[in-house]
Amino acid sequence: MLSITDTLIETENRLGAHNYKPLDVMLSRGEGVWVWDVDGNRYLDCLSAYSAVNQGHCHPKIMAAMIEQAQKLTLTSRAFRNDQLALFYEEIAALTRSHKVLPMNSGAEAVETAIKAVRKWGYEVKGVPVGQAEIIVCSENFHGRTLGIIGFSTDETARGGFGPFAPGFKVVPFGDAAAFEAAITPHTVAFLVEPIQGEAGVIIPPKGYFAKVRELCTRHGITLILDEIQTGLGRTGKLLAEEHEGIEADVTLIGKALSGGYYPVSAVLSNTDVLGVLKPGQHGSTFGGNPLACAIARAAMKVLVDEGMIENSERQGARFKAQIESIRSNAVREVRGRGLMLAVELHPEAGGARRYCEALRERGILVKDTHVNTIRIAPPLVINEDQIDWASEQFNKVLTALEP
Ligand SMILES: *Cc1c(COP(=O)(O)O)cnc(C)c1O
Repeated sequence: MLSITDTLIETENRLGAHNYKPLDVMLSRGEGVWVWDVDGNRYLDCLSAYSAVNQGHCHPKIMAAMIEQAQKLTLTSRAFRNDQLALFYEEIAALTRSHKVLPMNSGAEAVETAIKAVRKWGYEVKGVPVGQAEIIVCSENFHGRTLGIIGFSTDETARGGFGPFAPGFKVVPFGDAAAFEAAITPHTVAFLVEPIQGEAGVIIPPKGYFAKVRELCTRHGITLILDEIQTGLGRTGKLLAEEHEGIEADVTLIGKALSGGYYPVSAVLSNTDVLGVLKPGQHGSTFGGNPLACAIARAAMKVLVDEGMIENSERQGARFKAQIESIRSNAVREVRGRGLMLAVELHPEAGGARRYCEALRERGILVKDTHVNTIRIAPPLVINEDQIDWASEQFNKVLTALEP
């Protein structure tokens, strides 16, 4: 007889497209930092759905807001107005010090929205000849999975076989301000970049990189678009990762934890007139800005601040990083991170990150390998010291038991 897990996996394999290769853990419940599988085994979630559940699984206050709004009104489309949208605008603008907001659903949609808006801004405001706008992006970027976005990916798995792609993008190495400067032309309308490259393996740029980038963008009239979909909303120990760099983006993209994991909600936040170029009919989304999404996002932002999760991310992140750094194992090449956005890069001889993830799962910790040799660690921001200490112990055991 097949177990419940094996039966469900068999069905998934038979009916589903195989565009993911998940760990074979069948989760059915979550609360705070913990998740449980169908057999009742408990795990510490050290991925947080790629930082979408920063507030912890099934946060009761977000849940209450969701249920309350779901009983009143869920969707009007933007053909009509709803009484939650203005409140969402007010609260997100105040929190992030933004002047304009455009709500969407997924992160990729927020990225696509910014690309559309900034191209139009380039033609109408900056005066770039129509059809000539250039956007500079970075190698190893991750901005989502839509056709427009994968066209400027440098990951062959992400883009191979999916062309032809849209023109108008230039790729430069991440962390290299001189390369960015060299790529600028009079047609450059924007620089789209992650403050810390998450999917690439938590890559932190050299000190001063973003200060220089900000200065170049200002000097050349280029819109700096920071993709904070993963780094934003407390993940790195600040509300936005740009704060570590002492800069402000012109356009900021957020998503993921904007709903605390309850619902897809993303937003384009703008400090310049970029969003001002969009006129009725030129952009939209049936679900974008719906009252249910707005009510959930309002609660998700409120608990993040009210419950001190951003400060906790900074404090516990430093503790976790120090503990992992103190592990003596030949497997470990480098420990990186800011706040609770951490990664352990293993030596190539260590045999690949996947088997370490499997071993951690046996010890009750869920983490995900990325780029073959890196273990990414990103628990919900509600994690406490005892949980960190316990998790570090499990990392210690696995990293020393499997070392080459
Ligand atoms: C996850 C992510 C996206 C895409 O978000 P989706 O909701 O999956 O479309 C874009 N940019 C970054 C930096 C991300 O981490």
